[in-house]
Amino acid sequence: MNKHSSLRSASDLEAKGLIAPAERIGIEEVARRFSVAITPAMADLIGGPPTEDPLAAQFVPDQRELVFSAEELADPIGDEAFSPVPGIVHRYPDRVLLKPLHVCPVYCRFCFRREMVGPEGENLTNAELETALAYIAGNPAIFEVIVTGGDPFALSPRRIRGIVEALSAVGHVGVIRFHTRVPVVAPERVTTELVESLGSDKAVFVALHTNHVRELTPAAREACTKLVKAGIAMVSQSVLLRGVNDTPEALTALFRALLTLRIKPYYLHHGDLAKGTGHFRTSIAEGQALMRELRGNLTGLGQPTYVLDIPGGHGKVPIGPGYLEKTQEGYVVTDPQGGTHAYRG
Ligand SMILES: *Cc1c(COP(=O)(O)O)cnc(C)c1O
Ligand code: SF4
Repeated sequence: MNKHSSLRSASDLEAKGLIAPAERIGIEEVARRFSVAITPAMADLIGGPPTEDPLAAQFVPDQRELVFSAEELADPIGDEAFSPVPGIVHRYPDRVLLKPLHVCPVYCRFCFRREMVGPEGENLTNAELETALAYIAGNPAIFEVIVTGGDPFALSPRRIRGIVEALSAVGHVGVIRFHTRVPVVAPERVTTELVESLGSDKAVFVALHTNHVRELTPAAREACTKLVKAGIAMVSQSVLLRGVNDTPEALTALFRALLTLRIKPYYLHHGDLAKGTGHFRTSIAEGQALMRELRGNLTGLGQPTYVLDIPGGHGKVPIGPGYLEKTQEGYVVTDPQGGTHAYRG
């Protein structure tokens, strides 16, 4: 292991001081079940154990991951049921997921695809990628292609360019969206070549996955700014995680920092029922209370939609607090301070 390589095993973590020697056997067991990788950029930010540090909690494996509860699922969002050809998930008529790889630079301990991602995960072969692209080209209802994985920015700029060029040539595709954690976890990968590989006449969006303001280091901010300056629209998605960002202060700091980078907070995901992630999940009531706190205290631009991906592949829906109640005469509306008002209309 040299200074610039990712940590991938219990012994790497022990050598870096991220786990105690006594934890090693237990963590080896976790690592046999779920992939482990921490990039140098993230390892350098960790300042304490998972129970205290929001970066450690996201990336350092923990024995609690081997505690499975009955409601947890291997495929919590039901991708498999909606896959017409390898690498495509087509759940909504107007948009598809394109998953060219299952590799990520880091493996998040709460990942909803943790049973599928990893260094042994199958990447699409060239022939399968051709078939996936042909599926998109042959379905005029597809308006948007969401390139995800794994992390698509773990691909070489040459391969990214190939995908962007193929999608740009499809008349009915209006939007190409990449979902990635790379600008935060491996900002050095956001090179001029990578930014250029995203060039298209189509609208290109990058959805950045980030959960805590401390992830937004100067290098991460510079990587995002490069993308924005190249004309790429950026939104963010975060997962609500106990011990990481489940306070109004943590969420406010994150969403404000994103706005200053010209990144619009898009989704706050309720924790999926992925195996061994119970220690991260809040209740929906807690999530709604947090969203109620933000409304009124944080600019509307900084408010994401709080969403649940319904287990079984039934889609994502907003589950934020309700402000409107139907009555016989009209409605009762709740204001951001909790006061109620009759509305006739
Ligand atoms: C999340 C998801 C999308 C994108 O949903 P948006 O609400 O448009 O962000 C599309 N397809 C699948 C299968 C998804 O899981
Ligand atoms: S980067 Fe995304 S897909 Fe990869 S491990 Fe983290 S949450 Fe999962």
